[in-house]
This record gives sequence, structure tokens and C-alpha cells, in this order.
Amino acid sequence: LKNNVDDEYFESYFDLSVHELMLKDKPRTLSYKFAIELNSIDFKDKVVIDVGAGTGILSMFAAKAGAKKVYAVEGSLMATYCQMLVDSNGFSETIKVIHKRMEDITNEIEDEKVDIIISEWMGFYLFHESMLESVLYARDRYLKPKSGIMFPSRADLFLAPVNLDSYMNKKVNFWNDVYGFDFSVLANPAFESLPAPLVEHLEKDQLVLKEKTILQVDFNTVKIKELEDIIIDKIDFVFPSDKKPKEIHGFCIWFSCYFDGSKKTIELSTAPGAPETHWKQTTILMPQGIQLEGGETMTCRLQMKQDEENRRRYELNFEFPDDE
Ligand code: SAH
Repeated sequence: LKNNVDDEYFESYFDLSVHELMLKDKPRTLSYKFAIELNSIDFKDKVVIDVGAGTGILSMFAAKAGAKKVYAVEGSLMATYCQMLVDSNGFSETIKVIHKRMEDITNEIEDEKVDIIISEWMGFYLFHESMLESVLYARDRYLKPKSGIMFPSRADLFLAPVNLDSYMNKKVNFWNDVYGFDFSVLANPAFESLPAPLVEHLEKDQLVLKEKTILQVDFNTVKIKELEDIIIDKIDFVFPSDKKPKEIHGFCIWFSCYFDGSKKTIELSTAPGAPETHWKQTTILMPQGIQLEGGETMTCRLQMKQDEENRRRYELNFEFPDDE
């Protein structure tokens, strides 16, 4: 990942408001805090790499939990602030800040292999930003092969059909009657101009059917290559015949991450209904709503393909292959 796209990427992280948003995201930050504290046995006297340290918050959790050494690797200019924060909080002995991209490190990491890799690399619908690649690079190069621990350790990806009546009324159907005039020719352009995908908080009652777990990723074993073109076939949803008819406007994706410590597993959920995170949920809208009467089965296919021009972005393709 080395080009202009990447320069822009790291510039975007030299922005305090971005780090403020992440630090204020309590479900996010507290999951890491608890995962590290409650599994301090995995950190005590251990060597840690924090991939993408930002302000250094995760490195400090690790140092506080008793780590012997923490390499806080940060590719953006935030590294300068990170160093200041490490110094002002008295962690200069334990935390070594490295202002480099993980992939560019040559001899700054003195230990041959480390015990644990921590990183907050997750993007919208998990894969956006493709930062996982850098974490897997670190794993393959620096993590102890058998005993090494990845934090987070694994993730599940979920999908559910959603009804967005209130959102659609506000953004699309609004055009049907504007002060008594028929503006409905603008309904289509209005739909076309909606964000694709739509990243918004959804409520649990907007889910028309219970979610399916569509993908499980183990960060101990997944390979970088497997992230290029992720295809999930034959996702079946059955709409029970005794249910009230319902319209589906799209399909919503979210993830949970798990920290499998020796003492405890901690889950960071980004589900509708769970405490809100800055990841919200990602919804793929359908150009035509689907009216469900009851008894239908929908078979869907989701493809998440890294954009060839900008590998930090994914193209999301959603289809009903059986209908063709
Ligand atoms: N760990 C911090 C910041 C998370 S945001 C926290 O939890 O609050 C991700 C950070 O990783 C950003 O600061 C970004 O600049 C950095 N980053 C992303 N890819 C990287 C790479 N390959 N090498 C070094 N830093 C990277």
C-alpha cells in the first residue's frame, strides 16, 4: 500500500478531531481497555506492538497492564503527539514510539518476535480502509508463531434486511408533494444522490428479519490475499408467512470483534441496538424496495472487492442471483 492514496490516508489521520471521535467512542475504547485489563496476564512482562498507535491510548493500556515493552508504531504525524503524551504520562521507559509505517520498519523493533499485537484497525463494515493488511503484515513478520496473541483476535460480519420508512419518507418521498406541487420526477434523482453505501445508525426495530452471520474472520490465520475479493454466496432469508407484510429498502452490514484473552473474551459489538459506535452500520440501499407478503425466501450474494485504483476502498456488490 504505497502511493498517493496512502499519503492522503496518513494525512487524514493527522487530525485531532478524528482521534477525539475515536477516544470519545466509549464502546470502542472501553472494549480495548477491558480486554487488556481483564487479561493483564497476557501483557505482564510481555512485548507488544501497537499497530497504528494514534495518540498512544492502546499502548498506554498495555503499559499499565504491565507490558515490558510496547512498540507504538504510527505512520502519520500523530506520532509526534504520541511521543509527547507518552512522555507526559511517564511511559517513556516502556513505550517506544516509532514514527513509521508498519511496512517501512527496518531495525526499530529490537525484539526478534513479540508476544502480542494490538491494533484498532477496523473500518466501516470492518474492511474499509484496508488497514488490516498492515496488521497482518506485522503478524507475519513479528509475532511469535505459536504463542503470539492478536488483539482483536477475530470478527463476525452480520447482514440483515432493513425497513427505512422514516428515512425514505424524509429523503425520497418528500418530493412527491412539495407545498401541494408534484415534484415526484425528482424522487429518482434524490434516491440516486443518497450515499452509497449509507453509513447511519439504525435502530433494532428497523431490522425486518434477524441477522445472519455471513463471515467469520480469524486474525490469527487469515491471509492478506483473502481480503482482496470477498464473496459470500447463498445468504438465505426466509420471511415467515404469518408476518405482517413489510417493505425492505436495503441490507445492513455490521461487525463484532472479539478479544480472546487467556482469562476472558471481550466482544466489541457494532450492532443496531448495541451502544452506538462511530462505525454506525453500513446499509446497501435497493433502487426498488421489495414488498414482502409472507412466505418468501430471498437468496442473496454479497461481494466486497478492493477497488483497484484505491485499495483502501471496497466496492460492495449486492445481488439476488436466483432472480436473473
Ligand atoms: N490506536 C489509536 C488510533 C487508531 S486509528 C486508537 O485506538 O485510538 C488508526 C491509526 O493507525 C491512525 O493513526 C493511522 O495513522 C495509523 N496507521 C494506519 N495504518 C498504519 C500503518 N501501516 N503503519 C503505521 N500506522 C498506521
